[in-house]
Amino acid sequence: MGSEPLPNTSMSATIDFESDGVQHGFLQLPYSSDRSAWGSVMIPICQIKNGHGPTALLTGGNHGDEYEGPTSLLKLANCLDVNKVQGRVIIVPMMNQPAFEAGSRTSPIDAGNMNRAFPGHPYGTLTERIADYFSRVLVPMCDYALDIHSGGKTLDIIPFAAAHRLHNKTQEQACMTGALLFGAPYTVLMVEIDPTQLYDTAVENQGKIFVTTELRGGGTTTPATMAIADRGVQNFLKYTGIIAGDPELPQVTQLLDMQDECCYHVSHDQGVLELKVALGAQVRQGDLIARIHNHKRTGAPACQYYAAMDGIVLGRRHTPLTEIGDTIVVLASVLGDATD
Ligand SMILES: [Zn+2]
Repeated sequence: MGSEPLPNTSMSATIDFESDGVQHGFLQLPYSSDRSAWGSVMIPICQIKNGHGPTALLTGGNHGDEYEGPTSLLKLANCLDVNKVQGRVIIVPMMNQPAFEAGSRTSPIDAGNMNRAFPGHPYGTLTERIADYFSRVLVPMCDYALDIHSGGKTLDIIPFAAAHRLHNKTQEQACMTGALLFGAPYTVLMVEIDPTQLYDTAVENQGKIFVTTELRGGGTTTPATMAIADRGVQNFLKYTGIIAGDPELPQVTQLLDMQDECCYHVSHDQGVLELKVALGAQVRQGDLIARIHNHKRTGAPACQYYAAMDGIVLGRRHTPLTEIGDTIVVLASVLGDATD
């Protein structure tokens, strides 16, 4: 017996959020298309609940071309032992299911970028309706939320868990502790290029403990990134107290800070990108970090890009063909090491 839809949402769940046990079902959103006149978008959801305790909401596939989150959460949904749970774990491995099916960052149905669609709208586009259901139904149920991202097809990013600077410093500290205990090689106090319509912001604005990640990218996974994701998910559940045990931490996690938008180095040219620094490399302000070569003709000098700050290369554009406005390099300053 599924939960009743809210009066002003067309989305509903086929599982009952109040029942104990393991439930595999769907978030169902009617979608009438040429292929199926009375069809629905069906987003897989799993709940594993045992008695009273906190609720953790674990999500992946917010962007459809990032694979560590969906892979790790599909595995978790199939193996987490309900008897080892105290409280409730809600798992949505692919938030933007249509985008995931298409292998693209955004939805093929409405071009919706899930992480630019929050808080959403009950009568908006399909992506906005999914966002609205999260904002008004799923997020209010949770105490802790983990959203697993990677760089997708166009970015490659050092593997990190992150929290944001928040007005509520108690909440910020709890989020930062969660990020540290996720146990990635890097932990970042993160500044977003535009936080206004992020899922992150919507969750944080509801006072929840929120952790996000970036775990490499390029539109694939590696054994190393999958190991970080799998361990991080277990560590996060241990942090919430929903499963017992101490988080398994790496010997060192490097603490990084992104103080302002200067971290983002944006292209003012069009051409083929040649990175002069590797992911994770240390750079000094003024170092040459990239060249962009005009591919429309020969004989044009390359455009040079220099580091605006000291730091390490947190992220890079993965796709060489570059347009004006693309982020080509992201730097972060080093705060130090946190040792186990
Ligand atoms: Zn993402």
